Amino acid sequence: MQKFKRITIKIGSNVLAKNDGSLNTERITELVNQISALQKAGTEVIVVSSGAVAAGRGEVEVSKKTDLVSAKQVWSAVGQVKLMSLYIQRFEANDLHCAQVLTTKENFADRRHYLTMKNCITSMIENHVVPIVNENDTISVTELMFTDNDELSGFIASMMNCDSLIILSNIDGVYTGAPDKEGSELIRKIDTNFAAVEKYIAPTKSGFGRGGMLTKCSIASKIASEGINVYIANGTRPNVISDLVNGKLKDFTHFVPHTKKATSVKKWLAHSQSFAKGVVTVNSGAMQALLSEKASSLLSVGITAVSGFFEKGDIVAICGPQGEQIGIGKTAYSSEILEKSITKKLSKPVVHYDYMVLNEQ
Ligand code: GLU
Repeated sequence: MQKFKRITIKIGSNVLAKNDGSLNTERITELVNQISALQKAGTEVIVVSSGAVAAGRGEVEVSKKTDLVSAKQVWSAVGQVKLMSLYIQRFEANDLHCAQVLTTKENFADRRHYLTMKNCITSMIENHVVPIVNENDTISVTELMFTDNDELSGFIASMMNCDSLIILSNIDGVYTGAPDKEGSELIRKIDTNFAAVEKYIAPTKSGFGRGGMLTKCSIASKIASEGINVYIANGTRPNVISDLVNGKLKDFTHFVPHTKKATSVKKWLAHSQSFAKGVVTVNSGAMQALLSEKASSLLSVGITAVSGFFEKGDIVAICGPQGEQIGIGKTAYSSEILEKSITKKLSKPVVHYDYMVLNEQ
């Protein structure tokens, strides 16, 4: 049976809120009791909790002149406090402390912020404090925000080197059709070939959360490819967490992890796709070298064009001669230097292999 040593548990809005938008206190109590029991038995748990917007919406009716983005910011600010006060009470009843971690996608772009956040959560865990993470909706601007908290939970599980990520939603897992359609079956195991099941998944979402099954699955398969077990399970089932961990839960979807584990720098890079500040285009020889079995760094002689404005240390996209993106990496040179030295030899590799992640071919 799989061991659960350090896990991230993502709890969706549809699990935490009732149909009228108010918080489901009984459910939160039940989940916190299970998490506390796990924590006391030696599993390190990080919680990613949605539910702030849903909880705030149940409290405050905004005026007509408030636009939707502002309304969500107000609801999340009001709801986050309610949510956390409930978590605090319930964890205290189990003699445990919990702590609020609010973050944004941008915090994951900057390696220094990333490491500060990682150190902070590590210290909480070392001190038996349960971190409860949510996106800082007050300052997240639309185009830079996480797709949803499923994506955030993937970032956290990866950053914290968890062995498992459990995503709790209001259905049992991934089905071969619409879950309520006759004949649809639960897919219990998804191996590395995610593309084979992707066709089944409807791009719709339900209820209060921002995410849907499609984003859940693409995050899940990405995280599994980094060597982490991902489970999608039904958070409205009593004892779901305890049963899953103890091997008693029957209905859930397991994304089986790839055996090859990524280094922490590569994990960080793999989640930094959207932060690329520019593009370096390489010739076909360089592309072949990068995509070959042998670990190769990107050298300046293989670069044919540079676009965007970036500094040394920034993340850049690496594209082949036809403009197809083949990966991303951390550049050792600024765009200014690279532009001046196209096809010339520079002393260091432009992107060292250790700081490069190539797309799966
Ligand atoms: N951060 C949002 C909240 O707490 C949830 C986003 C999501 O549904 O994934 O309400």
